[in-house]
Order: sequence, then C-alpha cells, then structure tokens
Amino acid sequence: MNSLIISNLSKTYSNGVKALNNVSLEIPSGMFGLLGPNGAGKSTLMRTIATLQEADGGKVSFGNLDALVQKDEVRKILGYLPQEFGVYPKISAEVLLNHLAVLKGITSRKERKEVVEALLHKTNLYEARKKNLGGYSGGMKQRFGIAQALLSNPKLIIVDEPTAGLDPAERNRFYNLLSELGENTIVILSTHIVEDVKELCTNMAIINRGEVLLKGNPQKAIEQIEGKVYSKTIRKSELQSYKKEYTILADRLFQGQPIIHILSESAPGNGFKQVAPDLEDVYFSEIFGGNSGRETSN
Ligand code: ADP
Repeated sequence: MNSLIISNLSKTYSNGVKALNNVSLEIPSGMFGLLGPNGAGKSTLMRTIATLQEADGGKVSFGNLDALVQKDEVRKILGYLPQEFGVYPKISAEVLLNHLAVLKGITSRKERKEVVEALLHKTNLYEARKKNLGGYSGGMKQRFGIAQALLSNPKLIIVDEPTAGLDPAERNRFYNLLSELGENTIVILSTHIVEDVKELCTNMAIINRGEVLLKGNPQKAIEQIEGKVYSKTIRKSELQSYKKEYTILADRLFQGQPIIHILSESAPGNGFKQVAPDLEDVYFSEIFGGNSGRETSN
C-alpha cells in the first residue's frame, strides 16, 4: 500500500495570506488526523490534495502518481467529503446516490442497485433511503456524504471538518463509520476537534499558520510531555493573573470552577499537581508553545 507523500507544499493567496508554508508529510494507510485551529491551512491542504486548487510550489505523490499534475488519475481514486456538503433537498438519498453512480460510470442498472444498496446499509441510511435529503439531520447528511464519497471505491478519502455541528450520538456513529474505512485506505480527517483525532487516528499532524508543528503517533506525542503537565482548580477571578504567569494549556470548567493545565519542566509548586497529559495538552502546547517542526520518535 502506497503512502501519500507531500513535499514542501506552499500556497500564498492573492491577498498575501500564506496558507501553506513548506508543508511536508507522509501519510500512510489508516486514519490520519490533520489537526489545527480555524485558519491553520487545513482546507487549503485538503483542497490541494483533492485537485480542487493549485499550489504555488511543492509536490504531492501517491505511488507513481504525481498528484498535482495527473489530476484526472487522482480523481479516479479519490473520495472527498467537503466541509459543507450540499445536497439537493427535494430528492431522496437513494435517487441521488443512484444518479451519482451513473455519473461515476456505473452503467449497469443491476450493478448500480447493488452498489447503492450496499452503501446505504454501510452508512446506516437504508431505512431512511426514501426520505428527502432536506429532512436529514446533520449526522445523516454527513453519512450520506461518506456514501457518495465511497461510490468509486476510493484509495484516498479526504474528510474536511466532518463532525462540526453533530450531536454526540451522531458523532459517535460517524466515528464508527470512519474507523471502518481506514484499514486499507488512506483516510485524511481534517479537524479542529482534538477528540476526533484522539478517538480515531493512528497518525496525525498538528498544523498552525500553514506550518506543521508536530507529526507522528498521538500516543507517542502524549508520552513526550509526560511529567510536564500540572493541574490546579482556581477561582474565575484568578484566571487572568495565572495566564500572565504560566503557559496555560487548557482551562476547562468543572462544576463552574476553572481547572487549568500548565506545561512546566519542573514542579511549579503553588498548589499545582502533576497530571497525566492527554492529546489536548499536546495540541495546546504546540499551538501556544510554538515549537516548530518536531516529530514524535516512533
Ligand atoms: P482551515 O481549514 O484550517 O480553517 P484554511 O485553509 O481555510 O484554514 O485557511 C487558511 C488561511 O487562508 C486563512 O487565513 C484563510 O483566511 C485564508 N484563505 C483561505 N481561503 C482563501 C482564499 N480563497 N482567499 C484568500 N485567503 C484565503
């Protein structure tokens, strides 16, 4: 199974925004999480790989394919679920999938019926197949998006911010679906939600301002800040002064009280207790800590 190799990819928009700055990543089969805050450059990267926009420089290769040049070849092996998946509201999932299957070149009616039914089952939409898409929930629309992305048996699947706006049950169902896809395919999941990556991905990269801050295995990344994360419950009124004094990774509320996590090489005292780090701590230590270009040792 080939990996997707991204080398020195750069893109500056005409307004001067440098959305990608020398991005290099190797993406093997399985679920790959591309994690970063809004504006980090995730969609630009996803759209470039999906051949929907041009880069200024760099290379993307997949086996023998030069993906930025052989666009038609890429499109044949690609399943893409964009951030906002527009559907025709007045037709049913079954009819639209059937129609898209025709466009994909599945001309035999019998074969089309089989493919469409299998995908509706796989995405758990079979019961709702005759319902108009306009009446689908956010989660159902996303699962329909996966169904259409799977029509051509893709080797490379790109899903851009798929869980935004889903309720916890829908998100779970979507996670389960994605995790089934990942085994023999490259699935790139772009998200600003740390939990998406924690739950699903064996490899990941954190990007911000168009640059890769960290790449590797999530668990390994967590181990690298082991022993350096400290936690304390404080009063709301104290938050600002703590922010001035410490590198705060996360401030969560627990029963209305802020619990802060800080990154510190040595015990900070002052009532802080050492805690086991999680991926969120890794994420915020990269985003706020500004370490550029590190790689977790595998
Ligand atoms: P993300 O998907 O991580 O939110 P994007 O790739 O959408 O990030 O955006 C990266 C940066 O590029 C942002 O600063 C965004 O405002 C800018 N950007 C995105 N698309 C365009 C565009 N078509 N023209 C100009 N700037 C853009």
